[in-house]
Amino acid sequence: MEPPVPLSPPPPQPPRQEPAESGPGNSALLPTEKPRAGGRPRSLATPLERLPGVGTARADRLKRLGLVTAADALMHFPRDYRDFSGAHQIADIVAGEHASIAGDVVDVTSRITGGGRQMLVVRLACAPGSVRAVWFNMPFMAKRFAVGQRVVIAGQAKLAVGKWEFAHPEVRWLQAGERSDASDWLAVYPLAEGVLQSHVRAAVQAALDHAADLPPEALPEDLLRSKELLPIDVALREIHIPSSYGMIAAARRRFVYEELFMLQLALRMHRGQQQVRRAAPAIPVDGRIDGRIRARFPFEFTAAQVRVCAEIAADMARSEPMNRLLQGDVGSGKTAVALYAILAAVATRVPGAPADPRGRSVGYQAALMAPTELLARQHAATLERVLAEQEGRLRKSDVRVELLVGSQSASRRSQALERIASGASRIVVGTQALVCGGAVFRNLALVVIDEQHRFGVVQRGILQQDHTDPHTLLLTATPIPRTIAHAIYGELDVSILDGVPPGRQPVATYRVGHDQLDAWWDFFRRKLKEGRQGYVVVAAVEESKRGLESVSSAYEHLANGPLEAFRLGLVHGRMPAKKKQAVMEEFRSGRIDVLVATSVIEVGIDVPNATLMTILDAEGFGLAQLHQLRGRVARGAARGICGAVTASPAPDSPAPDGAAPDGAAAEDAVEPHPRIDAFVGTTDGFKLAEQDLLLRGPGDLVGTRQSGAPPMYLADLLRDAKVVAEARQDAMELFQRDPRLEGAELTRLRQLIHKRWGETLGLGGVG
Ligand code: ADP
Ligand code: MG
Repeated sequence: MEPPVPLSPPPPQPPRQEPAESGPGNSALLPTEKPRAGGRPRSLATPLERLPGVGTARADRLKRLGLVTAADALMHFPRDYRDFSGAHQIADIVAGEHASIAGDVVDVTSRITGGGRQMLVVRLACAPGSVRAVWFNMPFMAKRFAVGQRVVIAGQAKLAVGKWEFAHPEVRWLQAGERSDASDWLAVYPLAEGVLQSHVRAAVQAALDHAADLPPEALPEDLLRSKELLPIDVALREIHIPSSYGMIAAARRRFVYEELFMLQLALRMHRGQQQVRRAAPAIPVDGRIDGRIRARFPFEFTAAQVRVCAEIAADMARSEPMNRLLQGDVGSGKTAVALYAILAAVATRVPGAPADPRGRSVGYQAALMAPTELLARQHAATLERVLAEQEGRLRKSDVRVELLVGSQSASRRSQALERIASGASRIVVGTQALVCGGAVFRNLALVVIDEQHRFGVVQRGILQQDHTDPHTLLLTATPIPRTIAHAIYGELDVSILDGVPPGRQPVATYRVGHDQLDAWWDFFRRKLKEGRQGYVVVAAVEESKRGLESVSSAYEHLANGPLEAFRLGLVHGRMPAKKKQAVMEEFRSGRIDVLVATSVIEVGIDVPNATLMTILDAEGFGLAQLHQLRGRVARGAARGICGAVTASPAPDSPAPDGAAPDGAAAEDAVEPHPRIDAFVGTTDGFKLAEQDLLLRGPGDLVGTRQSGAPPMYLADLLRDAKVVAEARQDAMELFQRDPRLEGAELTRLRQLIHKRWGETLGLGGVG
């Protein structure tokens, strides 16, 4: 048993200093001079609008990214960098790879392509030859170029008729004799609706130049030295305005290490605080129960399902709490395994419990949590079907399934909570927030969390009761290497559900260029007429107004155009839950042919007759998300078909099943798109996860995006697996030396850990 580590709350903050007014006479005139201490310096807490060079309008927009103070801007890390050095020569260019080249504009022409698109061609002389930059349907770009100008363009090039061509490159216009102090490596930041790179860059620059203090160093001196990590002030400057390519890597390494080191320390503290684990109820599953449970399903379990169910049953038979992660690709049939475990729990009698009013013995309770209400409702419905009478074979079960979702009225919820507390409701299905928020169980034996990756780090031990701990089963379609799983979740067993239910065929996936859309819709309509159903998925930031418009306008467009002969339904995240549910029901029952949706249908939705999918603006989705989406049409016996529509023409797309692409004009830009190409190239979720690791930008930790846990800024538990292991080792060593992190030089570190993880891990109540 590790000693509990008391963690003191951060000491009271010193009173905030009044930020200086900007105006004549202060640093606005001396842009590089920092105001002196004592002269009302701008601090890290200074609101961005008070920093010279930011302004109220920009500051207002930056709030959409959650950036309010100078410190916020400094901690908003770039997601990528662009080489704007212009250092490449024509001979250096490699097709499909990023290149940056300087040249003089020699001509600017605009014309209409065979495909009817407006095309702007800017030719640059870059001795000893020339390259072309092209833009489609962006006529305003023409005004920004003049013959004789010197520019740097950056982007990916391809060979078109023997010349290198950059489609939609980034451009830096060089002033006559420009001497740029800025780095040639330009940071590219995560943005929000209406916020431009230039807004963020200005705020970061202002914070670096004018905040009197930079955040103090949190990492112990000896660690910085032994790990060769950049000190905080250098790292902060270099991560935003790198002086060289090598420094980008060094700065990132420091912050990645810091995040993972803090996470490891926080997890240790958390573990130290947890009481001794209590026993879980033993759930013995004998052959009779096993047979009775399996008989309730409308299919035979696959060999993989049988194996994994046995692993779970063996765990649950012990009185030590199970802690198991079940990984299986989208569509592999994880739900059946979860329901098996749930039914085993409720089939087991609570020893010594008094019989219920009708004289029956009382069984254990189980909870199933899902990331969305749609999915929770679907699981509840599946359970009802499994528990219903099975013609002539099995009686209707008397186990009551309780649903806990956000759209229920307060009175219905409180009735449900009562039934849960009394033990009358034996299976509880809900969204995580609801099941965790105040539900008190009487005899909880098992907690299943579906799509665990959506919840992120550390969500275990959330459902507890006084006397015992429940067994825990986590389901995920996102494979996480075992070592990483241990680092995030603590000691954890992993089961793999390999293999798919019989008769399943991989989804035929096509990249559809914009110029091939007519042919695609022809094809889509033909399949609908054969009696299939389908989805049209629109990439939309649901929270934003524009996102909403985009799904609604796609719906209007389809209903009055390509799909006017069919019955269409619309679902998006902003719809009231009842409405969403009603539309889903109509789709499930076949009264709607095509569901136009945002990614609310991404996880779990299971409508076997729906085998067609069109993903509009596919570039707007991540690889894991695309794969999850495609998983929706891999459920029935008929082969699923998925078209990923991209803004640029697809390279030599095979015609989907007779739909002839209308031949992209030779001069049209065919942009390789690594993510879409990977998606089209394989339907193996584990392979895609690997590719995703290679392609993904930093900072996208599995799951923390959607969970309540603080996001990781730069670290990525998968990509930075090595650093995770290192940080874990170092955290352990530090704990051995100073188990309470009391050393004077650890104060800042303790505060930061508290701030980042205190709430999530419940570290606050101690010390
Ligand atoms: P996921 O692993 O993505 O959660 P599901 O559990 O939703 O997948 O299962 C996908 C589909 O496969 C469902 O329609 C389910 O009924 C079906 N299914 C699961 N197991 C089997 C099986 N052994 N035989 C036939 N169909 C199955
Ligand atoms: Mg599922």
